[in-house]
Amino acid sequence: MEKGTEKAWDVLKDLTDPELPFLTLDDLGVIREIKRNDKNHVVIIAPTYIGCPAISVIEEKIASELKKIGISAIIEKSFSPPWSSDWISENGRKKMEEFGISPPHPRKADTIGEPLLKDVKCPQCTSYRTEKVSEFGSTACKSLYRCLDCKEPFDHFKCV
Ligand SMILES: [Zn+2]
Repeated sequence: MEKGTEKAWDVLKDLTDPELPFLTLDDLGVIREIKRNDKNHVVIIAPTYIGCPAISVIEEKIASELKKIGISAIIEKSFSPPWSSDWISENGRKKMEEFGISPPHPRKADTIGEPLLKDVKCPQCTSYRTEKVSEFGSTACKSLYRCLDCKEPFDHFKCV
């Protein structure tokens, strides 16, 4: 790998998501590729949930972090294949649970938005007796659920 590209990966993999500050862009599978053209580095990112306002914040953050190490970068968005919650790493899912967010279920490969498992697990007590309270939780990427056993409300990261 070209040296600048390697340096860029090193910096970018530790950047965190503005809405989920305990998750890195690497955990989320947002950074798809870093390459070089004649003048600049090109960072290809896969925007997570469409309409998630965080993406412009992420773009600015990537550009400014790379500037700090002397790399000028162009950020490009890639929509094909579209970002999928399946790209969230195992580590990322674990961190979500630790932070009280129920992670998205893996989907079947050939369907979009159709999770394999419909039951949402309570991140506090691991009960599956939960109900959806609202389509939108603290951000548009999450739905608000309530656990029928421990009665705690929690966010469930949507499956896309
Ligand atoms: Zn519970």
